[in-house]
Amino acid sequence: MTTADPSLRARPRILTGDTPTHTGLHLGHYVGSLENRLRLQDEYDCYFLIANVHAFTTLAEKPAEIRANTIGIVKDWLAVGLDPDRSTFVLQSEIPAIAELTFLFAMLIPFNKVMRNPTLKTEIETKGLGETYPFGFPMYAVGQCADILAFRPELVPVGEDQEAHIEMCRDVALKFNQLYCGVGNRVPAEEHAKVGGVFPIPKAKVGRIARLAGLDGVNKMSKSLGNAIFLYDDAKTVQKKINKITVLPDPATKLVPQDHALLQYCDAFLPRERAEAIRAEYASGKDVMHGHIKAELGEAINALIEPMRQRRAKLDGPEGDQRVIEVISTGIRKANVAAEETLAMAKRAMGLHFGERRIG
Ligand code: ATP
Ligand code: MG
Repeated sequence: MTTADPSLRARPRILTGDTPTHTGLHLGHYVGSLENRLRLQDEYDCYFLIANVHAFTTLAEKPAEIRANTIGIVKDWLAVGLDPDRSTFVLQSEIPAIAELTFLFAMLIPFNKVMRNPTLKTEIETKGLGETYPFGFPMYAVGQCADILAFRPELVPVGEDQEAHIEMCRDVALKFNQLYCGVGNRVPAEEHAKVGGVFPIPKAKVGRIARLAGLDGVNKMSKSLGNAIFLYDDAKTVQKKINKITVLPDPATKLVPQDHALLQYCDAFLPRERAEAIRAEYASGKDVMHGHIKAELGEAINALIEPMRQRRAKLDGPEGDQRVIEVISTGIRKANVAAEETLAMAKRAMGLHFGERRIG
């Protein structure tokens, strides 16, 4: 039996994920999305997707790197505490329903709307993609709608930079349900699945820190921009990176000390009262002992990630790789059950059901 109405499910669903554009995850991922994933793992039926096809949008000439990054990121997931026994790990390239839904959804999104997507625009600018990016780059925004909707989730835990994508995804789901499932255009989003829409309209759940700044203090912390503290960085590297953060007023960026990344990191990783006291010190205009604050922050971040580093170290080497391959293989089987169910429902709604597909 299909479960179009999510209220009939034992647990509501989550879909979220990461792109393997780097060998591991950073503190921005942790406060933006991973913390929520960890917290909600029992309450929700979770699908965590590794967007390895989308990594080709910027790294097409480096397939070996994408493969290594895929393994690295799954190791980070395990090290952080995402649990493949409770949740499903989804390898995008092995879920054919996602590719099919991408094509179908591409008909429901105006081209100009994709090109105006602020997240894409920022990425083109900050990643220096200029005029050279492939057709597949803007296409990934449509693909992400399919990544999400293939699992018909209620919730998508993401950082603030992804909100425009989730909005687009909600638009696609609304339009699909209205066009192909007879859902009236006055029906509120949260009622769609109840009245026969194939897709529940998913909501973004932004993390404790919506956008963690990078070490440069200007861009968001990002795998691709060389401004990140990674969860596997050793203690010395973490401290060195923090020590390099500028805390002087900067005429080029117009940043004043109160806006610098260091202060945001204090908010994120020190006890609240201590972070407030440090902010007050900077606001007072007096000389502040940056060095002491940086040391305190380094210690707090290292204490947070030390258990993750230890678990990550245990996954080093071929045995760890083998464990990841096993986890991915199990995930592929589980994910395809859910995604194929969605595809069948969507194709039926669109009048595309003619006969069973047998290959081979
Ligand atoms: P890339 O530079 O390749 O785009 P990324 O660092 O932006 O990599 P993604 O894989 O694109 O990482 O994002 C994975 C998830 O982490 C998304 O939900 C995103 O919103 C969240 N995220 C990424 N960076 C941050 C950040 N600095 N602060 C908060 N959340 C973040
Ligand atoms: Mg990104």
